[in-house]
Amino acid sequence: MTQPEPKKRLLILATKLGYQTRGFAEAAETLGVEVIFGTDRCHRLDDPWGDRALALHFEKPREAAEEIARALSTNPPGAVLALGDRPTPTAACAAQAFGIRGNPPQAAENCRNKLRQREALARAALPVPPFFSFAIGEELSAVAARAKFPCVIKPTLLAASQGVIRANNPAEFEWAVRKTRAVLDSPEVQALREPDADRLLVENYIPGREVALEGLLDERALRTLAIFDKPDPLEGPFFEETIYVTPSRLPAQTQAAIRDCAQRSVAALGLLTGPVHAEFRVNDDGPWVVEISPRPIGGLCSRALHFGDQRISLEELLIRHALALGGCDVEREPDASAVMMIPVPRSGIFEGVDGLEDAEKIAGIGEIRITARLHDYVAAWPEGSSYLGFIFARAKTPAEAENALRAAHAKLQFKFAPRLPVEHPATRKIRA
Ligand code: ADP
Repeated sequence: MTQPEPKKRLLILATKLGYQTRGFAEAAETLGVEVIFGTDRCHRLDDPWGDRALALHFEKPREAAEEIARALSTNPPGAVLALGDRPTPTAACAAQAFGIRGNPPQAAENCRNKLRQREALARAALPVPPFFSFAIGEELSAVAARAKFPCVIKPTLLAASQGVIRANNPAEFEWAVRKTRAVLDSPEVQALREPDADRLLVENYIPGREVALEGLLDERALRTLAIFDKPDPLEGPFFEETIYVTPSRLPAQTQAAIRDCAQRSVAALGLLTGPVHAEFRVNDDGPWVVEISPRPIGGLCSRALHFGDQRISLEELLIRHALALGGCDVEREPDASAVMMIPVPRSGIFEGVDGLEDAEKIAGIGEIRITARLHDYVAAWPEGSSYLGFIFARAKTPAEAENALRAAHAKLQFKFAPRLPVEHPATRKIRA
């Protein structure tokens, strides 16, 4: 009798186990793949959520990978995927420990730290704005004197534009640095224990339109899965995302220049394989690299992407690629697709939303998912890092898909209550 093939095993590393990890778990189930999760949420309780996720410290990638190698020594994974920026170095170290396909740890580190990424790309003569970094304790008027305005101030290790602020003059510079420092000093960020949190990056502001490229690297060759236009102007002072629309309406030549810039950037960073999410600004000088990350698009945005006649999800495509299951050589569907990350108009306690039914009736709207939790505090940017939810639209043209999102968003009225000035005991403990 022939033995059944052993089940393929996939290790997924993620900061939060939520809707994004659920998408991967569902795709894995369809493919008969077993998923093991690793997360850095809680180390004190034994399996508090009952999902047997490995408890890891992503800020120490080598130690985390050793922990993974110990825990999975008898049932090693066939592939490892990182969701979000924070686990990417751990994923690279874990792949190395198991001798499976992955990015070199050094390459993942080059991407993870925004200062290192700028240095690596500048060394390879890729188009990045002039930049410098400074230690948080330095005298601000002296630091401001080094900046060329307008400039952008950003933490080296956060994501989702949290703490990223534009300054047009020295007074705004000092205000922006104080605001970014407050974000870094917040209990939520302190709890991440990120090294290098004491340096800030300053770079010249790049004017132009912004795009995101979703790609898949295979043996160093970058395949573009989609280029998303970001039709809302992102001019600061804060840079909360809103609408992504694909296919891009930029001229074919500009899109080719973006793809070429992405390919040269991943090579300069030393990336070899797996998902890539890259952001660019485009102006008369061509594309400029905003950021390259060896991970898929975040949040629920992947739901805007479907591939092939079977309309498989991005998650399924990435799992197929990671485990060499075949069938990932499919193109994005021909329809235009758009997603809105619903902006947070102001910080407060989220008390619900009106107008959902009317918004859902708009032609082209596929799904509206409110992900903010009722009665939870939500922060607006630059302190914030998560959206109120996501609106999805599909249409024949990008303009129709974008208009559907705007029409649906206009129907939604979000309700907020002010936050009470009391501190949670856990927050007090972290500060102490
Ligand atoms: P994060 O990883 O936190 O999203 P990014 O470096 O990607 O940080 O910056 C977030 C956003 O801020 C970008 O998508 C872009 O809109 C804006 N931004 C960042 N750097 C610049 C820059 N040098 N010039 C213009 N805009 C910038």
